[in-house]
Order: sequence, then structure tokens, then C-alpha cells
Amino acid sequence: MSKHLLSQIPAINKILLLDEIKELMNTYTEVAIKSAIKQYIEEVKQAILNEELIEVPSLSKIVGEVARIVEKEDKNSLRRVINATGTILHTNLGRSLLSEKIKENIESVAFNYSNLEFDIDNKKRGSRYVHLIDIIKKLTGAEDVLVVNNNAAAVLLTLNTLVKDQEIIVSRGELVEIGGAFRIPEIIKLSGGVPVEVGTTNKTHLKDYENAISEETGALLKVHTSNYKILGFTESVSNEEISYLARENELVSINDLGSGQFVDFSKFGLPYEPTVKEILDSGIDIVTFSGDKLLGGPQAGIIVGKKKYIEKMKKNQLTRALRVDKMTLASLEATLKLYLDEKEALEHIPTLHMISLSKERLFGKADVLKTKLSSLDFDIRIEEDKAEVGGGSYPASYLESVAVKLTHRKLHATEIERRLLEVEIPIITRIKDNSIILDMRTLRTREFDIVKAALEEVTK
Ligand SMILES: *Cc1c(COP(=O)(O)O)cnc(C)c1O
Repeated sequence: MSKHLLSQIPAINKILLLDEIKELMNTYTEVAIKSAIKQYIEEVKQAILNEELIEVPSLSKIVGEVARIVEKEDKNSLRRVINATGTILHTNLGRSLLSEKIKENIESVAFNYSNLEFDIDNKKRGSRYVHLIDIIKKLTGAEDVLVVNNNAAAVLLTLNTLVKDQEIIVSRGELVEIGGAFRIPEIIKLSGGVPVEVGTTNKTHLKDYENAISEETGALLKVHTSNYKILGFTESVSNEEISYLARENELVSINDLGSGQFVDFSKFGLPYEPTVKEILDSGIDIVTFSGDKLLGGPQAGIIVGKKKYIEKMKKNQLTRALRVDKMTLASLEATLKLYLDEKEALEHIPTLHMISLSKERLFGKADVLKTKLSSLDFDIRIEEDKAEVGGGSYPASYLESVAVKLTHRKLHATEIERRLLEVEIPIITRIKDNSIILDMRTLRTREFDIVKAALEEVTK
């Protein structure tokens, strides 16, 4: 029975001659189409052998399936999505978006040779690390700077260079785990240091650090409790006190800031957080932070602080393993230049722009979207909502936001949510009261037409 069916499967060459398949060749290569046909035929054979199919699919069915496979195979695995969730630094969706303003800088370095490690003035070999020094010094007041692959690498390199085989004192209230794999006690051990925990979960006093200092101590480490908040009776020791105590005892003071910011966001309704410059001004020797969290640049780890310490890091073999590439350097330098004028930074760096959008502008966006979607089969309301910064910053704090709330007259919201993940550019939404929520802080005006087309497609 199945043998008979197998012999009825059309030959690849015959399928290739079909008009619809020839049409596909306008979009895809012959190699890709052949491979899709082979794949589909293999699937059909298996299904026949497993007796899941009792007849050979029609030619039109074959053409449809081949088109589906070739289209799917053609898509890159890593690709664009639209974030309508209201979480600005969405770790699963790529954290910060780069500024359009820096496109040219990236292009010119990526598609041409560059002076990455060439000192043009002195006509000799140079270092890739010089390119960011001046701009970061200007923005933070640091004595010296080193940029590595990400902030996890920055912490590892700092500890491994400065306090290997020594004790590192850290508060029990700051033993953070970031993203499932980066745990402060583990990273200290990995760097070769010995963690010494002091204080309690909610309260750590200066005397806790003082009492723990011994001959073996190398550093006092402060860690930003990026993704959680301890409420109630809490106490931690200030950067000033930590740096003073470290100096008195000839230890290094280190602050793993996590996000790191150059702008005070309290004017946009978020709690006050010190800027990188303020932390260095408080006397801390080394501060580490991410490039793609609140800074709004590419993934990178930025180390700033005392020259004598950073010089040592540059000589550490680990630096070579953790080094940044030219694309990161180009995009980070161009992003940081926008900070020279805070107004420019707030307007043109998407992360900052989204944080700083006023409610008025959010309502304005919502009105535009509502009008655009009015022809669709949805009840559309504009509602006040809450957005969050995300990405391990400002835990338990919200930004006031505005959402467009879509209730379909027939389809369930979970069904629409699911279908929106299957369109050409997947759209990530939230659901509330059997409605789709589109948050105006993260959904961009330029994406409105794509959203409209997708909503049309998933509800037709
Ligand atoms: C996010 C974070 C890190 C890790 O930074 P990456 O840039 O993601 O490597 C380390 N420490 C703290 C406190 C953080 O918030």
C-alpha cells in the first residue's frame, strides 16, 4: 500500500517546472527552492511510511507547502520584532535600541578599513582602547577608562586584576543575581577572589565592613541591587563612607553599578539615582557599568576610575579575551557624543527618549494610532497605564504611560496575541481584560503602519 503511494510522489524536476514554483524563483534562489522541495518530499515520505498520510498531496498543496518552507528557511533566526509591552530595556528583546543618529558612524567603520589599532598622528601601531578615553573622561570626570565586552566582563576583569587571591568584602544585601547566571559571590570566586559577606539582608552598617577588614582584605565592593528592592527597615553604607574606609585601610573601593547613567532621570518621575560622575566624585576607585542598559548604547562593559588600577587591567591577559570589536567601539563613541548635549541625548537615544516622553506626547501618539486603527474590527480605548524601565534598573518603579487598548469583537485576546507573534515582524504585546494592550512608551510612531497591517492580517 505505502509502496504504491511512494511511487506516486512527483519527481523534484517535475515540481520545479510548475509555474508557481518558477514564480518563487523571482524571490528565492533555485538552491533554496530545491532544498525546500526535498525537505517537503521527505516529510511526505515519512508520513506515508508512518501511515499518517493515505494519499499523495495534490500539486497545489505541494506548491503551497514548498512556498511556506522556503519562506521560513529564508528568514534569519535573529530578526526584528516590535515591542509594545511598555518595558523599555526588555532583556529578551535586545535591551537598548541604537540611535539612528549614529548609523553613519557604524557604517563607515564597518564597511571600510579604520584606524582601529593604528595611531595616525605618529604613524605607528595604536590601541583600540584609546578611542573612547577622551569622551568618557569628559562625561564622567574619570582619570582613565577601559571598555570590554559587557558589564559582567568588566566586573570579572576588575576583580581578577586588582584583588585576585584576596578577600572582597560585600554586603549581604547586595548579593545580586542577574539574568540567571551572573551571581556576585560566584563571579568573585571565578575572578580568584574570596567573598566575605557582611551585614544582613536588610541592614549593613559601616562597622560591619570595618570589623571584616583583615590582612587578607583587598577590596570593598558595592553592588547595585539592580533588579530587586528591599523595603521596610533597610540601611546600606554610602559610596562616600565605603571609599573613605577603603582609603584608610589601603584597599580598593569598587562599585558595580550595573546600569550606569549620565543623566538624572528623577525629573521624569523615577527615583533619584546617582550618575556615574557623582559616584566617582564620592571617591570610589573603580566603577563598572553596562553600555546597553540606561546608557542606551551597544552591549559593552565600561570601567572608569583611577589610572593606576586601569593601567593594570590593560595588561591583564583576560582583557584580550574580553575585548570589544570595532562595531561596538564605533557605536559607543557615537552614542556617547550625543551626551555632550543632554537635550540631544534625550531626543535621539531611544532608551532616553522613551523614558523622557511626556504624558502629553504619549496621549498624542495614542490618538494617532487610534485613528489609524479605527477601520478595524476592534473596540479601541485609550487608557492610562504603567510602563517600566526594565533591564535591571529601577526595580518596583513605574513610569506613567498611555496605552491603546484593543478589544476584538469576535476573537479572544490570547488568540490575537499568539497570531501577532507569527506575522512577518512579530509584535510583542500584553493582555489585560481580554484586550490587547499597546504601550505608547515603547511602540514607536514609525511602527504604527506595520502594527495596523499585522492587526488586519491576524483578524481577517
Ligand atoms: C546588568 C548587571 C550586570 C551585568 O551587566 P551585563 O552588561 O549584562 O553583562 C552586572 N552587575 C549588575 C549590578 C547589573 O545590574
